[in-house]
Amino acid sequence: MKAARVHERGKIVIEDVPIPEVNEKEVLIAVHRVGICGTDVGVVDGHVSACYPVTLGHESSGVIAKLGSPSMTDFKEGDPVISGGGWGCGECELCRQGQGLYCRNRFSLGRNVDGCMAGYMKVDYRAVRKVPATVSLDEAQNTVNIACALRAVRKLDLRQVKTAAVFGPGNAGLIILQLLKMGGVEKVVMVGTRDFRLETARRFGADMVVNVKKEDPAKAILDQFPYGVDAVFESSGQAAALQSAFNAVRSNGSVVVFGIITDKIREFDPSFLYLKEPIIFGSKGASGMFGEAMKLLEEKRLQILPMITHRFPLEETAKAFKVFEDKVADALRIVIDVRP
Ligand SMILES: [Zn+2]
Ligand SMILES: [Zn+2]
Repeated sequence: MKAARVHERGKIVIEDVPIPEVNEKEVLIAVHRVGICGTDVGVVDGHVSACYPVTLGHESSGVIAKLGSPSMTDFKEGDPVISGGGWGCGECELCRQGQGLYCRNRFSLGRNVDGCMAGYMKVDYRAVRKVPATVSLDEAQNTVNIACALRAVRKLDLRQVKTAAVFGPGNAGLIILQLLKMGGVEKVVMVGTRDFRLETARRFGADMVVNVKKEDPAKAILDQFPYGVDAVFESSGQAAALQSAFNAVRSNGSVVVFGIITDKIREFDPSFLYLKEPIIFGSKGASGMFGEAMKLLEEKRLQILPMITHRFPLEETAKAFKVFEDKVADALRIVIDVRP
């Protein structure tokens, strides 16, 4: 089978590799759709820890090709499924306490085990979720992100949140925006750098948009909300955005930091911790949120398909990554069609 792999920093190669053999706890998935995520780009450029050589990708949809053990739960061959981005070892103290997302021996697709940018991938059966018949594989490729966004939003009691800002109108940020509006947040500000994405945010319900290339985000938010907003979600992945996030949140408000920030802050004024007593959350992964994410897809509550702007065959994975990395003006969700 073909696979998009990384052997050395900065270089994606398409290789012929054997179809993985599955053990009794594993499921072989014939991959159909894969979405490119900032974490994948980090694996290629070396900012996100990974074990090379590795097959890229952790956000996909596909069909069960083979079950390691036919009696495994209620899966059967041919079922449309998605896989979570990883799974814990299942044996350590954290895993036994149900905290496998913090497992030190965690298996992360596309990082320390081969991911989904390939004809087939094998995953632990615990990571597999069925896709309902009414959800297309185009929609299901984004389930991991929806679940991650839900986990971030669930850090807060949205009944207490009237105003919010989301930094980073990428795929995840736009899902967070939709969840906030769905949860009844009255005013949501989207902060970003690309007009196309900010316009998309407007269409998805943002009440105000700020382009950081044109104005200072904290100042623009404080002009509109003099005491700051109740909650800020940081999903741009840029460490520098954190200072703006803390400047824009109201006293005793909440900041939720979504996803992996891989760069560093050179100058950082932490005095806000005393002055504003903010509540700060990190949000890692999708744990516990897959059922709800799938339900939102089933009920068609989210705009997922309009976010797909680019499609590439597996052979052109490097080109697809370049569209992501070059921050092409009209690019949002970039999908690899492994099986068109
Ligand atoms: Zn991801
Ligand atoms: Zn573990």
